[in-house]
Amino acid sequence: MRDPASVAPAPVQDPMITQPVLIRRVIWENDDTFTLTLDLTGTLPGFTFLPGQFNMVYVYGMGEAAISISSDPTRTGTLDHTIHRVGAMTTRLAHKKRGDMVGLRGPFGSHWPIDVARGKDVCIATGGIGLAPLRPVLYTILRERDQYGRVILLYGGRSPLDLLYRVELERWANEHEVEVLVTVDRGDSSWKGHIGVVTALFSYIKLDARNTVAYVCGPEIMMKYTVDELERRGLPPDQVYLSMERNMKCAIGFCGHCQMGPTFICKDGPVYSLPRIRPLLDRKEL
Ligand SMILES: Cc1cc2nc3c(=O)[nH]c(=O)nc-3n(C[C@H](O)[C@H](O)[C@H](O)COP(=O)(O)OP(=O)(O)OC[C@H]3O[C@@H](n4cnc5c(N)ncnc54)[C@H](O)[C@@H]3O)c2cc1C
Repeated sequence: MRDPASVAPAPVQDPMITQPVLIRRVIWENDDTFTLTLDLTGTLPGFTFLPGQFNMVYVYGMGEAAISISSDPTRTGTLDHTIHRVGAMTTRLAHKKRGDMVGLRGPFGSHWPIDVARGKDVCIATGGIGLAPLRPVLYTILRERDQYGRVILLYGGRSPLDLLYRVELERWANEHEVEVLVTVDRGDSSWKGHIGVVTALFSYIKLDARNTVAYVCGPEIMMKYTVDELERRGLPPDQVYLSMERNMKCAIGFCGHCQMGPTFICKDGPVYSLPRIRPLLDRKEL
């Protein structure tokens, strides 16, 4: 059977040709993570994407990085990418300002299948920058909130100040009946919430396992433990979806940089159903 995550639209342009786009806004989410809002109206007016897909973002004269799209898929004209500064490319992107140009090609990859969750409960488990590719899932579900049962968001960050989209987290909880549970590795004097790993949050919720679809994105070790927890609670594996990450170059399955066993994460992933990726999850050398 075809994986519901794997059907995705092809890029509207030649996937190897980078289009110049204007940075319309830069928002710093925390000390080392920022969101670029890119203006597509000039060069990519027909751009559409599905939640979970990513673009290759190009810094002229330097190179590209794979970055998930973090905005609402129904918004036209602009696109958000939330970027964690970790190395040379992302640091260069962090220096960009409103009015600067970057290059873009995409969208690439598979997507979070949201239709499969219609009529069911949704459990989103994520850590750190992993919330960025899941934000479009929340926008999509919350637009038709009555079509879904409970919506649970389990989210972990390093510290209270590292948490992304703090205003939205409150809005989702207060205005959209999302059960938002947040935990941090280290609290501070103002933090009254949970401290510990994301998986510890499962002890505060009861899941109706047969009737729940789970979307998981974060560091690989967090995803492994989350999958264990979901399986322990009886979630059928085909109701669990994960987004994988590997170093990427071409993004269209030619170069092999992102190969993981028999699969290329750029074109078969990044989103996989658990039965498809399970055999590879525990194999460290891949
Ligand atoms: C499908 C996909 C979607 C992605 N979406 C996003 C996104 O939405 N936002 C985002 O910020 N990043 C995302 N990434 C990761 C991003 O592509 C890399 O962080 C980026 O390419 C690093 O480039 P760099 O030159 O800054 O760092 P590099 O010079 O390549 O790496 C510098 C150091 O950071 C480490 N490093 C690299 N990547 C990571 C990482 N992700 N986390 C922690 N340490 C890392 C390296 O091991 C190295 O030690 C995504 C990756 C994939 C494959």
